[in-house]
Amino acid sequence: MSDDGDADESRFRIETAAIHAGQEPDPETGALMTPIHANSTYEQDGPGDHRGYEYSRTGNPTRTDLEANLAALEGGEFGRAFSSGMGSINTVCNLLSAGDHVVTGDDVYGGTHRIFTQVYEEYDLEFDFVDTTDHDAVRDAMREETELLWVETPTNPLMRVNDIGALADIAHEHDALCAVDNTFATPYLQRPLEHGADIVSHSLTKYLGGHSDVVGGALVTDDAELDERIGFYQNSVGATPSPFDCFLVLRGTKTLPVRMDRHCDNARDLAAWLDDHDAVERVYYPGLDSHPQHDLAAEQMDDFGGMLSFEFDGTLEQASTVVEETEVFTLAESLGGVESLIEQPAAMTHAAIPKEEREAAGLTDGLIRVSVGVEHVEDMKADLDAAFDAALE
Ligand SMILES: *Cc1c(COP(=O)(O)O)cnc(C)c1O
Repeated sequence: MSDDGDADESRFRIETAAIHAGQEPDPETGALMTPIHANSTYEQDGPGDHRGYEYSRTGNPTRTDLEANLAALEGGEFGRAFSSGMGSINTVCNLLSAGDHVVTGDDVYGGTHRIFTQVYEEYDLEFDFVDTTDHDAVRDAMREETELLWVETPTNPLMRVNDIGALADIAHEHDALCAVDNTFATPYLQRPLEHGADIVSHSLTKYLGGHSDVVGGALVTDDAELDERIGFYQNSVGATPSPFDCFLVLRGTKTLPVRMDRHCDNARDLAAWLDDHDAVERVYYPGLDSHPQHDLAAEQMDDFGGMLSFEFDGTLEQASTVVEETEVFTLAESLGGVESLIEQPAAMTHAAIPKEEREAAGLTDGLIRVSVGVEHVEDMKADLDAAFDAALE
C-alpha cells in the first residue's frame, strides 16, 4: 500500500481489499494493525475545532477503518458499523415513517420478522410477507405507501435464492428502496449493490467476523444522502460497536476470501455426499443442480456458500438424536464461524410455528441445518454417518 491516505482502494480485487482497504500503517510508529482506540473523547484545538473526532459514539478511528474496509468489500462508497446485525436492521427501519409500508420475504431471518411485527408495527409501519421468488406476488404486494423492499438471499433454512436485480427493479418502479441482507452470501460471493440494491445489510457476527467471537452489524450504500441519514440514526440511536469489536471484525475480514473458499468447497462436497446418502431424503443447497434456483444462484453468486439443510429420513426425535450425537458439528444456533455447527429448525429456531404450518412451509421434523466449517470434510462425513447410525439404531 502506498502511504498516501487517499489511495484509491477500489482498484484492488476483493482478496487484496480484504487485507488492506481502510487500513494504513500508523504514520508515527509504522505499526501495521489498526489500534484498538479505547477512547471516548478527543482533545479539541479550540472550541469546535477538532481533528475529525469528537466523541466515540459519533466516530472512533478503529470503527472508521472497519467501515472503510466493509464498504470496499461490498464495492460501495459508504459503510456504517453497528453493535449487532439487528442494530443495522433497526437503522433501516429508522429511515421509514409512520404510515409507510414494507414488502419482504415470508422466510426472512426470525429476528427481522420480530423487529418488523413486534416493534415497528407498533409505530404504524405496515409489513407484507410474501414469497420473494414469485415476482408477481411481490408486484401485487407493492402499494403507493411502499417505501422499502427488504430482501434476503440465500434464505434460512431452505436456502431459497432471490433475484436481487429483478427485485431492485420492482422496488424502484415503485420509488421504494431495495435493501439486501447479504449475511449468508458475504460480499466475497455476492455484491448486491452491483445488482441495483440501495443498501446492503450484514450481521458481522457470522462470516465477516468468522470466528464466533463477536456480535456486530453493518450497512453499506453508494448514496451519499442515504449514508448521511444512516449516520444520523447511527449516532442518535447509539447502537455502535466497541473499538475492540471493530478490531475483531477487521481481523476477521482479512481472511474472508480464504475462509469462504474452504467453506464453499466443503459444503459442495458434503451436499453431494448427503444427496447420495440412504438416510437423507433431500438436500437444500444452491450448488446442487436439483436446487430450484440453481441457475440464478450460479449467475448471481460467485460460489454457493457454506450453508445447507437436509431432510433426515426419520422422526423429530431421531433427527434430534442426530444433532445431539455429532462431535465435529456443534449443536448451536448461529453460523459462519470456522467451526461446523448443526441445528434442527423444527425443535429450535422454528419450534414456535405450529407443526402443520411448519410442514407446509417445508420445515419438516427431520430437517437439519448445518453451517459447514473449515475442518476436514471427511471428518464431517464420518461424524454424520456415526450420528445417523445412532439415531436409527
Ligand atoms: C444473525 C442474522 C441477523 C442478525 O444479526 P445479529 O448480529 O445476530 O444481530 C440478521 N440477518 C441474518 C440473515 C442473520 O443470519
